[in-house]
Amino acid sequence: MDPVLFQHARDAIGFMPDDEGLALHAAGLEAAAAGPLLEIGTYCGKSAIYLGAAARARDSMLFTVDHHRGSEENQAGWVWHDERLVDPDTGLLDTLPCFRRTIASAGLDDVVVAVVGDSPTVARHWATPLGLVFIDGGHALDVALGDYQGWAPRVAARGRLVFHDVFEDPAEGGQAPFKVWERAVADGFTPESTTGSLRVLRR
Ligand code: SAH
Ligand code: MG
Repeated sequence: MDPVLFQHARDAIGFMPDDEGLALHAAGLEAAAAGPLLEIGTYCGKSAIYLGAAARARDSMLFTVDHHRGSEENQAGWVWHDERLVDPDTGLLDTLPCFRRTIASAGLDDVVVAVVGDSPTVARHWATPLGLVFIDGGHALDVALGDYQGWAPRVAARGRLVFHDVFEDPAEGGQAPFKVWERAVADGFTPESTTGSLRVLRR
């Protein structure tokens, strides 16, 4: 990965360890031939840099979907709440300004397009086949399953489906992404690689 973009990704606020980010980047490079890349769960744009760098290298695009109000686990009182991301006017979480700063300072404005809205709603109106779908939105079972059901049909032939935060052992983390990953395998997606909690499957 371009070392300057890697440094931007490492410095960005968010939830993506270096090794998993590099695996995500590699999947993006492989998948870009099949179509544009799409991410569910933008947050502040950390993973979007890994995928955006792949899009840049392959002359492709990354669309990144988020309502920017945070998941349940990002709200006040939860461990993953970050006070800096609260809009003082409304008291609501708003990660869109942070995302814009992250992507602009990485110089990726021309390859990363923010889609601001509810993931299943956007999925219902999305028709373009995708080279890669990265599912990293809400981690409640109904939310993760809704993302899978909405977006998996949009993965192009020879495209990739990628899940984050997949933990087989309940002691390591929530089980919803693992349950949805199992569902994807049962539906015929082929596991291709695992790096930490990041799992890549192929159509
Ligand atoms: N990929 C990010 C982390 C994503 S955190 C990183 O690299 O750091 C999960 C994100 O999913 C949050 O920003 C939250 O707002 C978003 N999200 C949760 N449910 C959503 C939904 N139904 N539609 C759109 N975005 C959603
Ligand atoms: Mg995650």
